[in-house]
Amino acid sequence: ATPTSIMVGTGKAAEHGILFKGGEHLENTKKINAIVLDKTGTITKGEPELTDYIAIDASEQELLQYAGSIEKTSEHPIGKAIAKGVEEKGIDLLQVKDFEILPGKGLKAKVNDTMVYVGTRKLVREIGLDPAAIEEKMAQLEAQGKTVVLVATPDKLLGILAVADTVKADSKEAIAKLKEMGIKVVMITGDNQRTAKSIAQEVGVDEVRAEVMPEDKAKEVESLKTQGYTVAMVGDGINDAPALATADVGMAIGTGTDIAIEAADVTLIGGSLKGVADAIYISKQTLKNIK
Ligand code: ADP
Ligand code: MG
Repeated sequence: ATPTSIMVGTGKAAEHGILFKGGEHLENTKKINAIVLDKTGTITKGEPELTDYIAIDASEQELLQYAGSIEKTSEHPIGKAIAKGVEEKGIDLLQVKDFEILPGKGLKAKVNDTMVYVGTRKLVREIGLDPAAIEEKMAQLEAQGKTVVLVATPDKLLGILAVADTVKADSKEAIAKLKEMGIKVVMITGDNQRTAKSIAQEVGVDEVRAEVMPEDKAKEVESLKTQGYTVAMVGDGINDAPALATADVGMAIGTGTDIAIEAADVTLIGGSLKGVADAIYISKQTLKNIK
């Protein structure tokens, strides 16, 4: 393409809130035929709310206090939702120490010298507890698209909490448009299968990769590239940065983390997924007659 047509294209994109870091990315965008979409913060608003809490081996107060105190330190949307929900109930938070993030699984910290774990089933199984007794209830909440978080100490399951995130207003329409363009659309998330399927169904995504550990998101992108696809990755989180860098075109949600924006080739300022279809459309239009 000529430098002029590239400049016209990137200028036009900028008017639509789509910032290309360089002309070569505009050229690659034209060829995209597979798109990997992160779930939390990309398809959904990423501002979940605490909706349910069920105490098992603790009082409700204890369950909420322990979970809230630990999550107060977290920057994960799930953690923020839990801390906020607990504080809104007027429950005082406790001092925690030895706080540690367990990527893709949750976190742990000491409360009153007891180690408390907050996170996935996998995390709870790893410390040697069996969440089977509460499985049916968890499945019910997940079928509603909610994310269930377990709270445990080394010897007991204190209870579970659920948070619900909402889909962005135009995610469904944007995904329909991409599918109409003949593009393969895949949703990827660290969240569990059932929650992921429920959200995917709501927005019309047929292919889902759930329970993907942060370091494996880039591998999923790489695998599509190996199959011959020109792949765009769209994400907002720190977890998405390697996948954004691996994709042929990495697109960061402008309302997301700086680390994602730095790793990406394109920033979608408004945060809407419509920007993805617009970017492809503009790229095809401006580079129409150019090989
Ligand atoms: P995503 O791709 O959806 O952003 P992550 O890899 O960040 O997923 O997290 C995967 C899963 O780990 C979450 O769905 C949640 O179950 C659990 N998790 C992560 N961070 C936290 C946290 N601060 N508190 C509780 N659970 C968490
Ligand atoms: Mg995300």
